[in-house]
Amino acid sequence: MKNKLIVISGASGVGKGTVLGIMMQKRKDLTFSVSATTRPPRPGEIDGVHYYFVTKERFQEMIDQGAFLEYDAHAANFYGTPRAQAREKLEKGPVLLDIEPNGAKQVRASDPEAVLIFIMPPSMEELERRLRGRGDTPEDQIQMRMTRAVWEMEQRFWYDHVVVNDDAERCAQEILDIIADSGENTN
Ligand code: 5GP
Repeated sequence: MKNKLIVISGASGVGKGTVLGIMMQKRKDLTFSVSATTRPPRPGEIDGVHYYFVTKERFQEMIDQGAFLEYDAHAANFYGTPRAQAREKLEKGPVLLDIEPNGAKQVRASDPEAVLIFIMPPSMEELERRLRGRGDTPEDQIQMRMTRAVWEMEQRFWYDHVVVNDDAERCAQEILDIIADSGENTN
C-alpha cells in the first residue's frame, strides 16, 4: 500500500509542534516534511530541522523551477513544501506536513489520497493564552495571528478530520489512530 501525505493544520499557538513530536516518538516510521521559508529563524530553530531558511530570491527560484508541492505567502513571508523531499520521505513511511489551509488545499488538489487533519484549540481564550505564553511574539503580531486564526478555523470544514488539542498526548494518539484507520501501510 502506498504511504500517504498527512497534512496537519491549525492556528499558530495551537500546539502542533508538540503534538507532531509526540506522534513521531510513538511511531518511528513517520517523517516530517521540512518546509522552506523566507522568515528568519526563531531562537532554538535549526536550519534543515525545523525549516530550510532561504532568501526571497532563492524561494522565487524554487517556485520557478516547480520545486514546491505547494507554497503560500502569509505574514509577509513565504512558506513551501519541497516536492523532492516529500517524495523521498514517502518511501519510508507516512509524511507529516505542518502547513496552513492555502497549502493544504493545493496538496488536496494534487494528491486526492492525502489525509487532511485540522487541530482546534479547546477555546479561543486558551489559544490567546498559549500565544502569549510562548513569549516570543510581539503584541501587534498576537492580534494579527488571532485574526488569522479565526479565518483558519473557518477552513476546518473541508478537512477530512477535526481534532481538539485539549491534551497533547491524547490529541497525538487520536491523530495516530486516524492515520492507522486511513489504510496506511503499518509495516
Ligand atoms: P511559523 O512561522 O509560526 O513557523 O508558521 C506559520 C504558519 O506557516 C503555520 O500555520 C504553519 O503551518 C505554516 N507553514 C509552515 N510551513 C509551511 C509550508 O511549507 N507551506 C504552507 N502553506 N504553510 C506552511
